[in-house]
Amino acid sequence: MSHYLILGVSAAGLTAIDAIRQRDKDGPIIVVSKEPEPCYSRVALPYILSGEKNMRQITLQEPGYFKANNADVIWGVGAASLDAKNKTVTLEDGRNLTYDKLLVATGSASRVPPIQGIEEADACYHWTLEDTQRIEKALAGAKSCFVIGAGFISLLTVSALIKKANLNYTIVEIADQVMPQLLDREGGEALERAMQEKGIEVVLGDSVSAVEKGKDGACTVHLKSGKAQTADMVVCGTGVRPNIDFLKDSGLDIASGVRTNERQETSLPDVWAAGDCAEGADFLSGEPVVHAIWPTAIDQGRVAGANMAGDSAAYPGSLSWNVTELFGLASASIGEFRDRPEWEAIVFHSPATNVYRKILIDRDNRMVGVVVIGRASDVQDLGVVQSMIRRKSDVSRWKHMLAGEKVNYGMMAFETLRQQVAR
Ligand SMILES: Cc1cc2nc3c(=O)[nH]c(=O)nc-3n(C[C@H](O)[C@H](O)[C@H](O)COP(=O)(O)OP(=O)(O)OC[C@H]3O[C@@H](n4cnc5c(N)ncnc54)[C@H](O)[C@@H]3O)c2cc1C
Repeated sequence: MSHYLILGVSAAGLTAIDAIRQRDKDGPIIVVSKEPEPCYSRVALPYILSGEKNMRQITLQEPGYFKANNADVIWGVGAASLDAKNKTVTLEDGRNLTYDKLLVATGSASRVPPIQGIEEADACYHWTLEDTQRIEKALAGAKSCFVIGAGFISLLTVSALIKKANLNYTIVEIADQVMPQLLDREGGEALERAMQEKGIEVVLGDSVSAVEKGKDGACTVHLKSGKAQTADMVVCGTGVRPNIDFLKDSGLDIASGVRTNERQETSLPDVWAAGDCAEGADFLSGEPVVHAIWPTAIDQGRVAGANMAGDSAAYPGSLSWNVTELFGLASASIGEFRDRPEWEAIVFHSPATNVYRKILIDRDNRMVGVVVIGRASDVQDLGVVQSMIRRKSDVSRWKHMLAGEKVNYGMMAFETLRQQVAR
């Protein structure tokens, strides 16, 4: 009988427990969670901030879930080191835990940028429930909010905050567009227009050089361009980094995350990794990548759990995949979003409705990516697009329809699947 040890219990860790229990009802599972109980959906934290959801609605596991799955959880303590030779993990409180099969699913954490004074300024980040509570506290009495970085998490946070707090918002972004990691320039411009309509000041192509906290608690933010601005609170969203520092002496092969193969195996025997802390192959390019997104964590957790329990599952690679609501617009980015000379870009753009859609097609007439900024109805069928990208469906027959306002993705997927089955 195998003893399983799982570090981190969020998207990847919880899915792994399910996958193990589908195959092995008896092997004891011990779970170590650095965060206190309960497990919650990080994706839904903005809804806590905006007041649209409460804790009960974002809790991930039913009461009694761990007992029913014969899993013991150690809450509020992190793993401090791994001795893979002796199959032992030492916790921050000094306890040693042994394992037969180990999963590292420790996720990621906000990156603190190298900005002078940022630590002293009590800047807010947004990755954990504790962060959400800190932002709520900082809001009390605030009239202005300065946001560093216009990436996905920053924009989700501001989009939630403006529903609740009528502050003066300024966002500075070093790139020349908002959401440069997920949107092309035109998509970024469409989103920027929506932000400006909400009264948000967007500063592009500039960055923060220093933050100074005054005696009155307000912060003066100095920009590289020489400008300075005072704000009552500072929110920082400059990316994430994997929670893998505790593995530095473990002998694990580590690059931008713990390196894994298609079975989520690491370079060490009986150690798997999944989710934001794991580097795996990009589905389209095959290049090693960390896609810090929920669907990748779920898929990798499922594959890791299955293999830990003796199965033989493989993950075909992760696909960048993001669909959300920002500033009253639906925003979606799946797969590739930047043009390349060898690809065809099929664009629909309606300035009147602020709907923008770009579909990228490769040389072999396969969809490799889509960007949409528009209404909820413009993104509702994108699950189908994701599956067409994954199936590498030939869309040459439908290209003429892709530039129209409405695209019947369902019909295209059905027909291409029929052709593939008939072949
Ligand atoms: C505000 C917000 C909005 C988001 N929105 C989206 C979205 O719309 N779509 C999307 O796809 N993704 C979104 N994400 C990202 C998504 O939440 C993550 O990709 C996902 O949570 C990763 O799951 P995970 O299981 O790998 O790790 P995590 O969810 O990060 O969980 C890892 C757990 O491990 C714990 N841990 C860390 N170190 C240790 C240790 N040493 N020992 C034990 N435990 C440890 C952590 O405390 C944490 O509880 C969002 C994230 C945030 C913060």
